[in-house]
Amino acid sequence: MIDSVELLAWYEHAQRDLPWRRPGVSAWQILVSEFMLQQTPVARVEPIWLAWVARWPTPSATAGASAADVLRAWGKLGYPRRAKRLHECATVIAAEHDDVVPDDVDTLLSLPGVGAYTARAVACFAYRHRVPVVDTNVRRVVARTVHGREDAGSPSARDLDDVAALLPDGPQAPVFSVALMELGATVCTARAPRCGVCPLSRCTWRSRGFPAGTGPPRRTQRYAGTDRQVRGRLLDVLRDNTFPVSRAELDLAWTTDTAQRDRALDSLLVDGLVEQTADGRFALAGEGD
Ligand code: SF4
Repeated sequence: MIDSVELLAWYEHAQRDLPWRRPGVSAWQILVSEFMLQQTPVARVEPIWLAWVARWPTPSATAGASAADVLRAWGKLGYPRRAKRLHECATVIAAEHDDVVPDDVDTLLSLPGVGAYTARAVACFAYRHRVPVVDTNVRRVVARTVHGREDAGSPSARDLDDVAALLPDGPQAPVFSVALMELGATVCTARAPRCGVCPLSRCTWRSRGFPAGTGPPRRTQRYAGTDRQVRGRLLDVLRDNTFPVSRAELDLAWTTDTAQRDRALDSLLVDGLVEQTADGRFALAGEGD
């Protein structure tokens, strides 16, 4: 079980000072942080987010930037389709929502790039709504404390119900949600839960003696040598050039496997992150806008 008093008291003193949690941060800026934090660690997001919101503090400011500038500012956060979707999201909010991020989950879900997690995170963290927010960390904490299992298994519709049932009533609900995520990120981690400093006194997995998980062994995600790395190398070249570059220049970015390089470049063109000019050179999408 999760005792909200224990969790909230712990969060009060243990929370990390993250810039998007500080007073005065707008709903748009929180939404930007959620886009960036998908699959990317806090330490890498922090400097990029700070520069981003200083440069483009509102949806309309972001929408007014070129797609190429947005991709350039995204830097090496990875998964650059997120940058493109964020730009599209800003454009829709500026044009159709008076430059104000919607506060209800259903409208948020209609925005480009906003999925089930991000919609609820924005409704909860920006607008203090009492909605369950479920990410990987939360699923793991609930699996251990409530269900007595090491791992959460595959995501299911039940995850939302599980977390909704735990939320306290009243204004503490959004703080409870962020505290649960924080516990999963910093204490009840996947590989090395720090039960000795955990604030939760009633954890079913611990009281059962930490039975081993039954799921498949965790795999470490490889990056070196993957198409993702090749795509990143190609984008690095284009980010460093404000003018289109020739195919020969681009080819130098990855000489190990030419078929893989061609595949990566094709996928960047298909994703709309890179454009080919009339004379056959390559540039970031929207470079000439
Ligand atoms: S006691 Fe250990 S396993 Fe249980 S929630 Fe705390 S850190 Fe996680």
